[in-house]
Amino acid sequence: MTKSFELIAGQPVLDLVNTLDWRFRESGPEELLDSYDDLLGFAEQSGLLSQRVGRSLRRAEAASAARALQQAKDLRECAAQILYALVDDLEPPVEAVLKLERHLHTAEANRTLRWTSSRIRFLWPSEDDPRLPLWMLTQSAVNLITSAGALSVRACAAPDCRWLFLDTSKNHTRRWCDMKVCGNRMKVRRFKVQHRAG
Ligand SMILES: [Zn+2]
Repeated sequence: MTKSFELIAGQPVLDLVNTLDWRFRESGPEELLDSYDDLLGFAEQSGLLSQRVGRSLRRAEAASAARALQQAKDLRECAAQILYALVDDLEPPVEAVLKLERHLHTAEANRTLRWTSSRIRFLWPSEDDPRLPLWMLTQSAVNLITSAGALSVRACAAPDCRWLFLDTSKNHTRRWCDMKVCGNRMKVRRFKVQHRAG
């Protein structure tokens, strides 16, 4: 059965960072991308991959699929280092930026410009290469990180969670990944603390 991902971030690369769940929890994080199949499910649910391409990628050879998953996690972790630094008003680590640049160069080498339906578009010709979701996510990462949108990236205010999202609220006041999940959890916690203090 395909795993269902909670896509709350408004940007694929932010949802990707959130697939290492409970990143800041004392007892350690939880990996949501356990297999290449999970990565494909994630890319499909994020709207990056069509189900048709997803089906053909599910037939990829096991070793190259495993390598592609590993590289996607590598991309995720360098994007996480950069994005959490930006959220915390810090300078992103140089190694993370260089790593993202390497991912970008590989992705770019596999992209073409073609005239289709009266427009020139970027295309990914290698629809049967298991690295396709990795390249797409790299593109998503670079687009966001180099755009003004990077300034609207926030982390959930629950310290264990800190899931990333794009704050598109009018007054930039969104605090929670999901009000139903973290918003309520924090309210309950605050209530308990006040109760104990009183
Ligand atoms: Zn949260």
